[in-house]
Amino acid sequence: MKIFAYTYTDPLIENSPDLSHWEWDIDRVYEDLGKRSQLQKLIIDSQREEPDLLLVRRLEELGDTLQDITSLLSKIEEMGIILIAVEQGYKSPFTDVDSWVKSQIDFQTGLQIDPSNKNHPQLELLKLLHEIQKQQRSRRIRQGHARKRLNAAPPPGKIPYGYRRGKEKYIIDRTTSPVVKDFFENFLLYGSLRGAVRYLAKKYGKKISVTTGRRWLTNPVYRGDTAYRDGEIISDTHTPIISREEAAQVDRLLRRNSRLAPRSASAPRSLAGLVICGECQSHTIVTRVTQRYQTKEYLYLRPASCKRTKKCRALPYQEVLENTINAVCRDLPSSVGEMDFPQLDAVKNNLTATIESQQKILTQIPELTENGVLDSETAKIRTYKLRTEISALQAKLATLPPVNLLSVAQAVSIPQFWWDLSESERRFYFREFIREIKIVRVQEEWDLEIIFIF
Ligand SMILES: [Zn+2]
Repeated sequence: MKIFAYTYTDPLIENSPDLSHWEWDIDRVYEDLGKRSQLQKLIIDSQREEPDLLLVRRLEELGDTLQDITSLLSKIEEMGIILIAVEQGYKSPFTDVDSWVKSQIDFQTGLQIDPSNKNHPQLELLKLLHEIQKQQRSRRIRQGHARKRLNAAPPPGKIPYGYRRGKEKYIIDRTTSPVVKDFFENFLLYGSLRGAVRYLAKKYGKKISVTTGRRWLTNPVYRGDTAYRDGEIISDTHTPIISREEAAQVDRLLRRNSRLAPRSASAPRSLAGLVICGECQSHTIVTRVTQRYQTKEYLYLRPASCKRTKKCRALPYQEVLENTINAVCRDLPSSVGEMDFPQLDAVKNNLTATIESQQKILTQIPELTENGVLDSETAKIRTYKLRTEISALQAKLATLPPVNLLSVAQAVSIPQFWWDLSESERRFYFREFIREIKIVRVQEEWDLEIIFIF
């Protein structure tokens, strides 16, 4: 049995299919990309060689309009070829499909079917054609959007603060962009979204909500990329306000903060669960003591399950916290200095190299278009694909921890950094670096031993 297969792909909105998982023993595949030249060739070849079977994924691959599809269906049938639309479970032949369908369908409004016809096989085809019609309408809409994207034009809607709408792309607004830049710098310095929002109001009188602030932090536009409604991002479409490195830092800070309990919830104490009594190996819990007629409360760290007859003493929370911060600031840099990250480096270098090679291809496209190797439509599609690939790779790169952990360690080795954080923020950062804190008791005195996670 001779089997041909045909696929049509619109490169604007989809990738070429992989037919290798089909179980058919296909003799020849005709693949069209954007145009239907291979389909013409398939018809001509079929007249000479007459395959027994023609496979397509879906009937709509056979033409841009319903008329094209139905007339091709009847042509295939005339040639005595069995057609199977694999994904739709459809199999021809039907008798004189073309004229029968035309008599039943109003091509503009859809179908007029006699319900008593329910089990008629042609009804199945009609349903299918109706479905195709709907599909094609949505395809045309997607194609329209995709065409706009090829030029990386800004999507409709509100322009992010700090930019103006130019003819083809976002343009930096010289008066408002410094405010955005300053907002990011403040966030990067202190790692607090609320803090950065307050700072903006105080310094510039620019009042934004925390939600807006969070949206700014993740807005691809500030990073020089354009985002579309379906989540697709094209990289380097206009001048950024923050650099890639800053963007990656922002993402890491946000990821850390997101693991924190929201401020409104009863914030767990930063040392809770981290401190262990070196004498009885018991975990400690935070207990709260409020004295009568006084609003001030005192916090203590108390061993939760001390088995000793003379129970281990509870320690004032604030003192342990102070000691912890001092110990972290003293020991963290040297502890980080002993680390190396060969594997992480390899992954990062790999991603960076791929991004660079994609960017190199991008720069070659204008020349290839000029000397006629690529036509302008193909060049646009290639450019578009490269740019979305680059932005996906950049996003991947941004999720990796910084290789310059050494400089991060230095930044968090200043006591003021820790005191500026809320308890819940502190809790998070502690957990980034510390495995446990051991209380070492010498009679009535005590000291702390910090065990880092690396
Ligand atoms: Zn103890």
